[in-house]
Amino acid sequence: MLANEILEMLKEKISPNEYEFYIKQLKFNEKASSDDTIFYNVPNELIAKFIKTKYAEKIAYFYEVKTGRKPLINITTQNIRKASLKASKIDVKKIKSTNLIQDYTFENFVVGKTNQVAFFLAKEVAQRPGGQYNPLFIYGESGLGKTHLLHSIGNFCLNMGKNVICVTSEVFMNDFIYNLKNNMMEKFREKYRECDYLLIDDVQFLGKTTEIQNEFFHTFNEIHSKKGQIVMTSDKPPKMLKGFEERLVTRFDSGGRIDINPPDLMTKIAIVQKKCEINNLSLSADIINYITTHIGDNIREIQGVINNIKAYHTMLNEEITLELAKNITKDLLKEKLENVSLERIIEVVCKEQNIKASDIKSKSRVANIVETRRIAIYLIRNLTTNSMPQIANYFNMGDHSNVSKNIKKINELIENDEILKLKVEEIKNKILTKG
Ligand code: ADP
Ligand code: MG
Repeated sequence: MLANEILEMLKEKISPNEYEFYIKQLKFNEKASSDDTIFYNVPNELIAKFIKTKYAEKIAYFYEVKTGRKPLINITTQNIRKASLKASKIDVKKIKSTNLIQDYTFENFVVGKTNQVAFFLAKEVAQRPGGQYNPLFIYGESGLGKTHLLHSIGNFCLNMGKNVICVTSEVFMNDFIYNLKNNMMEKFREKYRECDYLLIDDVQFLGKTTEIQNEFFHTFNEIHSKKGQIVMTSDKPPKMLKGFEERLVTRFDSGGRIDINPPDLMTKIAIVQKKCEINNLSLSADIINYITTHIGDNIREIQGVINNIKAYHTMLNEEITLELAKNITKDLLKEKLENVSLERIIEVVCKEQNIKASDIKSKSRVANIVETRRIAIYLIRNLTTNSMPQIANYFNMGDHSNVSKNIKKINELIENDEILKLKVEEIKNKILTKG
């Protein structure tokens, strides 16, 4: 079984003691797990916490290597299997022969400010391959939708009757090594060079050996010269890739290159709504707002929360209340900071609002800057023990009555503007979250 195979993979990377003491205690909870969310049960909270911090990320990584999809790993002490006999898994269907995840489609992708160009280019190459955006190189941090977009191209083109190969760079490498060992390179080349679309996920791992790079270089050239389309995703732009030969970097950079950035608040809300719709889950606005303001910008984590809520809902057959949602989410939230400094508040507020710290300390009346300054003052007042005069001093305001005026104003605004209220709540939670 895959879940146990993954633990075997982990066994090779850790000490025998660690394996004996901790990993052996993991029991895969098949009923509760889906492709996106894996549940393992352990005997107590302490072990759960330890395994979560130390091994969950590695376990997720091995899943990704094996399946092309990085799931959320839940280590829990509750045996939710017992909760109900009606339990049903959330099915995520894969198209067997292509490895494409069926629900990663353009229709299921929520478009917002930070991913719209990537979305547009992905659609463009799906409809008009081999043009100026060949290759298409999509990069960005983890959990922002790169794999989803890549598979959307694959699913779209497969429907059009195209020959699509969609693999992670690890699979490409493993395939190469296997075929090389077994004298089957002809078969390998036929598979990878004859396709209409070659979609490579997480290409950053291809830089490991010159043999692989060489093979990929020729694969790339062959497809490119035949006007087949190549799409790659990566965690960094071509020029920042480590261990890659210059000739590959130049090629990666020669078509369309686009980054995906973390979603803004409204896009996150739309994503949660979309995920609920797909999962047939009806959540109140309160719950949706809670999730979007408490979970960071990693959409994989948002998806994880929705999956968990869905799993509990199906298994316990209970109405999802805000309390229950909070309880479920709690487990997935990162550790909270106890104390925060004024400097941390300024740093996070400015980053979120895309404003320079020197600007909010200035006397500028530009709307954006005024709003950011107010949010910062409000949060400093709420989260730290800084006095009004200290705050006035920091913002070069002279008289501290200006600080009170700002606080009064933002309280009024928050009262009347739901979006601003959520935005401040979201920033506050980011300030209070470690990492
Ligand atoms: P990455 O490959 O960038 O690490 P993924 O494509 O695996 O991220 O996305 C993580 C999860 O977030 C997936 O479940 C995916 O469906 C979801 N997701 C990411 N971006 C969006 C989006 N814009 N709309 C809907 N779902 C999204
Ligand atoms: Mg990915």
